[in-house]
Amino acid sequence: MPSYVDTEKCDGCKGGEKTACMYVCPNDLMVLDEAEMKAYNQEPNACWECYSCVKICPQGAIAVRPYADFAPLGGTSIPLLSAEDIMWTVQFRDGSVKRFKFPNRTTPEGSINPYSNFPEPGDIKDERQYSETALLNPEKTIRQLVEQEEMDHTYVWQNPNVQAR
Ligand code: SF4
Ligand code: SF4
Repeated sequence: MPSYVDTEKCDGCKGGEKTACMYVCPNDLMVLDEAEMKAYNQEPNACWECYSCVKICPQGAIAVRPYADFAPLGGTSIPLLSAEDIMWTVQFRDGSVKRFKFPNRTTPEGSINPYSNFPEPGDIKDERQYSETALLNPEKTIRQLVEQEEMDHTYVWQNPNVQAR
């Protein structure tokens, strides 16, 4: 089931230019009703149920029904995200609760330099990718002459359930 917003809890991210759920949704589904200062999913059919908005919402205002393979219908699955870990509280329809905590990262927040160990940018016409030190057989693959014989492709694949004309 797609995401839905508990309007009692949503505070519109306190009037920020772009709310957290709008920022994070990979499908640009979340929008803010500026009159009410409440967010909502503008196109539930297109929701991937990816949980990104659920995890990022600072008010815990968004929910997505958990996937049936771990919490059948009637259950809830609520994430609590911190800088180091995420804890999932799963409540099953019989009322029992299980909590799972996983680390989010292996290095301190803000400590990663994504460009370390990569070379300085060089010639823009260089065919190598940024992280490649040498081209992989470029002459052989790019300039290879491919011989192709003339052939009749009509019956290369034929559906056995459809009579050929
Ligand atoms: S992230 Fe949460 S609090 Fe912020 S606008 Fe979206 S639903 Fe509301
Ligand atoms: S669950 Fe994922 S796809 Fe659906 S509204 Fe939230 S962020 Fe967007």
